[in-house]
Amino acid sequence: MTLELTRITGPLATKGCLTAHQNCLLYSSGICCENSPEFDDLFGFSVDDVTDEVKRGTKLWCDKCKKKGATAGCERRQCKKSFHYPCAIEKGAVVIEDAVKGKYGLYCSEDCQAVTENKKQSTASRQTSSFREPEKPKNHSNAASPNPGCFLLALALISFYIYVLCHPSLPVLLYSLLYLPLAAACVHALLLFYLSFILFVCNLLLWLFLVLCLYVVVFMSGDARKRALGAQASSW
Ligand SMILES: [Zn+2]
Ligand SMILES: [Zn+2]
Ligand SMILES: [Zn+2]
Repeated sequence: MTLELTRITGPLATKGCLTAHQNCLLYSSGICCENSPEFDDLFGFSVDDVTDEVKRGTKLWCDKCKKKGATAGCERRQCKKSFHYPCAIEKGAVVIEDAVKGKYGLYCSEDCQAVTENKKQSTASRQTSSFREPEKPKNHSNAASPNPGCFLLALALISFYIYVLCHPSLPVLLYSLLYLPLAAACVHALLLFYLSFILFVCNLLLWLFLVLCLYVVVFMSGDARKRALGAQASSW
């Protein structure tokens, strides 16, 4: 191997029965770098992936030297040209290298690069324009959707209602009523009744307070919604 070839292909790595150049791996189309330390023997590529890629390469013929094992394909989808990485360099392919994103690839010609990058730009601009258009209807639907505060209060009300139903205050009150005739004889029966009555009233007041809160929130948000819709209608 000449020094010039090493400069093009990058260093060589061996793991098990596999030996590969760093650039030959980086620019292979059917493989991506795992970048996990356990695979560091093959520049961050897993042995299984490289084995699969070698298999894939047995069906790919190099456009330059006309031999098998050409895994570095042109990035343009419609272009079916494949190369060995050094062959691609020799042929003057355009090399795309983004070490930050871990994206490596090549275009067989400047034409292929121009076609692909123009397409990418037009789809990107189409996406941003379609993002901007539905902004107004989105606001409109937001006004009609239920208030999150209202939803939370409803949830609190339901959970509190379950709590009241499950809480022993009402059964205890009824139970203490049974003992009320004994109040003359035993002061504890009266005490039990008073305590359970206070507990029950507290629960009831809390429940009523939550109902009131829910009513206020629903009423206020409905009013605010109407006002907002009115303002929107007058601005049109
Ligand atoms: Zn190589
Ligand atoms: Zn070749
Ligand atoms: Zn191409």
